[in-house]
Amino acid sequence: MHAEAIALYKALSEGYTKIQAVGVTSDDDQIKPLCGACRQIYMYVNPMTAIFVFGKDKKVKLKVKLIDTMNIRILVEVRSLKVWKSKALSL
Ligand SMILES: [Zn+2]
Repeated sequence: MHAEAIALYKALSEGYTKIQAVGVTSDDDQIKPLCGACRQIYMYVNPMTAIFVFGKDKKVKLKVKLIDTMNIRILVEVRSLKVWKSKALSL
């Protein structure tokens, strides 16, 4: 189970039901967005959740609405951060 899922379950178990955003960090040089399984469980709670992906330098590298990452056309195009970036929104 990934940290993003655990964070969501922990928040829900403590009564936080209005999930607005999730942040993803990594010490890796490559930026790591939410995986498909984690995005799916966040979809059940709030499809409009904002996803913030931070780089190794702790700066926001990507911000996108969860619902926009579920677009099948986007997933089929390329499963890379480049596509995510091209679809990123200004939140
Ligand atoms: Zn995950």
